[in-house]
Amino acid sequence: MRIILLGGPGSGKGTQLRRLSEALQLPSIAVGDVLRDAIAQQTRLGTSAQPYVEKGELVPDNVMIQFMRLRLLQEDVNQGWMMEGYPRTAFQAEELDFVLSDFGQYLTTAVYLEVSEEVMRERSKARFSSGDATRSRADDTPDILQRRIQHFRDRTIPILEYYGARGKLLKINAEHPPDTITQEILQKLKS
Ligand code: AMP
Repeated sequence: MRIILLGGPGSGKGTQLRRLSEALQLPSIAVGDVLRDAIAQQTRLGTSAQPYVEKGELVPDNVMIQFMRLRLLQEDVNQGWMMEGYPRTAFQAEELDFVLSDFGQYLTTAVYLEVSEEVMRERSKARFSSGDATRSRADDTPDILQRRIQHFRDRTIPILEYYGARGKLLKINAEHPPDTITQEILQKLKS
């Protein structure tokens, strides 16, 4: 299985990635976490991505696709994977299909965790003010969050159509409690 999780800030992509990848025993890739680690370690990817991540802007497609091509070539993911945070633009979605077809592989499903923008704001606010270092994120400030929501609306929403047209889109109401969402996705992936 090769599954991507799509959704705006605060849609629960990270939580569902952890739960689903464990339930399905799939290696997971959380692209935002990878970028934050790369920034903390000041690797080449990290220094290129940092100014964008800090402002809530999208890291340029050429940086992302080069990195993801290399990542998906690694051995730990050659039997399948689950990923969140990529693709985020139409160009990345098309490029991912090219990469997979180069390897003789294809995407199984794109799961869209749908929440209203109001819920995105509420959840990110709760995360930002929680004081919990493992959850709070510097890019959850109201201004930066607004940019991230805007990029989601303008750049990521259009790729739902791309997957819908290919019969790969699974839309989930992600305003439900996390457990309900996990169970619903697992059930729908099996059927
Ligand atoms: P996330 O943790 O998924 O919300 O990602 C945090 C930040 O990393 C985003 O606001 C972007 O700056 C950057 N980022 C993550 N994934 C991508 C991507 N696929 N394309 C461009 N930028 C990304």
